[in-house]
Amino acid sequence: MTQYRKKPVVIEAYRLPEAGDYMVEEFLKWADFNDFTKWESGHDETLNIETLEGTMTAEPGDWIIKGVAGEFYPCKPDIFAQTYERVAPCKHLRIDNNFLQNTSTCMDCGAKL
Ligand SMILES: [Zn+2]
Repeated sequence: MTQYRKKPVVIEAYRLPEAGDYMVEEFLKWADFNDFTKWESGHDETLNIETLEGTMTAEPGDWIIKGVAGEFYPCKPDIFAQTYERVAPCKHLRIDNNFLQNTSTCMDCGAKL
């Protein structure tokens, strides 16, 4: 049996904000031509994404990946962590969450800001 290893491929990804968090403008711009620009922040709704393999459902906190052909698909956080590593240091995309507690996190890496 011949063995093969996946070639490293660089993809773009953002995490779908948790319920109650706000989408940031950069994410919406990135997702501009996809249906999930219509997804409203502050909701704990799932989001249907039309992928090359049919409709897939993303939940808040899931990663949204833009693949090498510009296609979008969702990925669970544990799978994402096993499969991907950051190419460059995080630039931190601030989202204001828990507006009652007035806290912010980075929607990209999850760091408290
Ligand atoms: Zn960050």
